[in-house]
Amino acid sequence: MMHPDTNLKWVNDEIGFGVFATRFIPKGTAVYVRDALEVKVERNAALLKNPAYQEIITKYSYVDAKGDYILSWDHARFVNHCCFPSSITTGYGFEIAIRDIAEGDEITDDYGLLNIEEDIPLACSKPGCRMVARAGDFDQNVERWDRIVKDALSHFYLYDQPLLKYLDQSTLQHLNQYLEKGKPYLSVATQKFDLNEHESDLLFLRDRKVGSAGMERSE
Ligand SMILES: [Zn+2]
Repeated sequence: MMHPDTNLKWVNDEIGFGVFATRFIPKGTAVYVRDALEVKVERNAALLKNPAYQEIITKYSYVDAKGDYILSWDHARFVNHCCFPSSITTGYGFEIAIRDIAEGDEITDDYGLLNIEEDIPLACSKPGCRMVARAGDFDQNVERWDRIVKDALSHFYLYDQPLLKYLDQSTLQHLNQYLEKGKPYLSVATQKFDLNEHESDLLFLRDRKVGSAGMERSE
């Protein structure tokens, strides 16, 4: 679920829609939370073999630490990538604003954190753009992302957190233990799904690719 002070706006024909702040959102605010209504398509779901759904799932979902596909029920599925994003994923099931976000600014995140399985060409066109998001981005950037998340989390209880009530209780407990009692921090790395550790899934993915290639030939 996206922060209530956001809406959907058309960016351009290449990018499509994006999510924008309708009011000032301070650094440290949770801008997205994985709430209980998000649609989970399990990694071994038969639905993933159906070409009609594959395109939708590939385009709009992210992969969680268990390897399942998470499809947002609201406009969160339209958040675009930026190599210099305004928010990033944390180890706590939400995305956090990593700088102050002005009214009208786009809410962006880094697709390198979403357990992508294939390279995604990037269109953020900022100087220093990585041009392609790759599966290896996670390992290369995780230390930097943790530093940024810790800095943003230090602002967490300074401001209103309208999404806090949707965070699951055990995650909230972990977060409070870190913020208030100095207990261990949950790294962004806890969100990583390691494909190499799931060989049966690799076989399953290969099936999917054969399936979609077959569809293209028949068109
Ligand atoms: Zn970029």
